[in-house]
Amino acid sequence: MIDIPSPESTAAAFADVHGARPVGVWSAPGRVNLIGEHTDYNDGLVFPFAIERRTWAAVSPRQDRIVSVRSGAMPDAAEASLDALGPEHVDGWSAYVFGVLWAMGERGVDLTGRTGFDILLTSDVPLGAGLSSSAAIECAVALAVNDLWELGLSRRELIYICQLAENGAVGAPTGNMDQTASLMGVAGHGVLIDVRAETADPVALHFGDEDLELLVIDTRVHHEHATGGYGERRRSCEDGASAMGVGSLRDLTEGDLPRAAEVLDDVTFRRVKHVVTENARVARTAEVVAKDGPRAIGDLLVASHASMRDDFEISVPELDLAVETALANGAIGARMTGGGFGGAAIALIDANRAEEVGHAVEQAFADAGFTAPIVFVVNPSDGAHRDL
Ligand code: ADP
Ligand code: MG
Repeated sequence: MIDIPSPESTAAAFADVHGARPVGVWSAPGRVNLIGEHTDYNDGLVFPFAIERRTWAAVSPRQDRIVSVRSGAMPDAAEASLDALGPEHVDGWSAYVFGVLWAMGERGVDLTGRTGFDILLTSDVPLGAGLSSSAAIECAVALAVNDLWELGLSRRELIYICQLAENGAVGAPTGNMDQTASLMGVAGHGVLIDVRAETADPVALHFGDEDLELLVIDTRVHHEHATGGYGERRRSCEDGASAMGVGSLRDLTEGDLPRAAEVLDDVTFRRVKHVVTENARVARTAEVVAKDGPRAIGDLLVASHASMRDDFEISVPELDLAVETALANGAIGARMTGGGFGGAAIALIDANRAEEVGHAVEQAFADAGFTAPIVFVVNPSDGAHRDL
């Protein structure tokens, strides 16, 4: 088990297990979504950034068709053959790894005649906390395989491969925000993603220039996107779009909401309203941060949280308390981040008040009888790359 992972410690752990150093080490970051929740699978706008917490993959080619994988986060190693990688053959955490190779095959990479890999993973992205440890593992593996098999796939294609791994092999019906942020992140920048246009543009966030920090408050309420509410919300969006006669909710604007209120039942209307208004908030956030700087985006973050709490109904009491407490203690803006039903909240705060806010949230959680949260600062960081 590795305490503080790094490229070097990951290579050393690989050498301990396999008796030789890996051919290379690749890594991919987790992400925080600044704004734009449940908009990605509606062909919409999202504005996340890659964070400094990463997953490292130490990899060497093998002579046979086996892919072996172990992770510092898991007690058991796993193995699969390149001949049996499909969703019917894989389950558990290793499906995120085998799923990437399967998805490459599904998207046209010829797997015949190829040989497998030994893969060892380390990570300091908390699992299931809404910071996308799942994209970090997928993207690190995809980049490694792309290099070692000399596939020459573009990062855009790797985004779709990793998304297919998550949708098809793991069975989580997520959009591709996480993979896009992980593969396209740029230090100091957010990634403004337009899913429909297939663009991902870096936009400078200037947090440091304005002496701001972005706090993550991990509520430690674990979510599971392969089951339950996430898929239900996604179906509501599809139902709403079809009842409104459009291909996706991206085709609706705020001007369509009065008609939506007439056509749709109350619950579907509120789901649709969240997505439509959230797209508008994402566009506005990117404009405002570029024009007036990050201190001007607080109200947009707060409005996004209210929309998720009241209309999309994906918040939980721990997330609401984290947001309320941060705001009451001087945060410029705060919202839950990620798919919801648990996970983390973010708070944008003057750097000299960050510690105070952290303590206030810890105290509020203790008073409410909630599990102690984990509070830490994240910085907009570079996307996936080869380390060694
Ligand atoms: P999130 O992406 O928000 O962290 P998900 O539920 O989408 O949450 O993905 C978390 C799952 O991904 C874990 O439960 C585990 O199965 C898998 N996973 C992510 N990172 C690792 C890792 N470093 N080692 C093993 N499994 C991992
Ligand atoms: Mg995930």
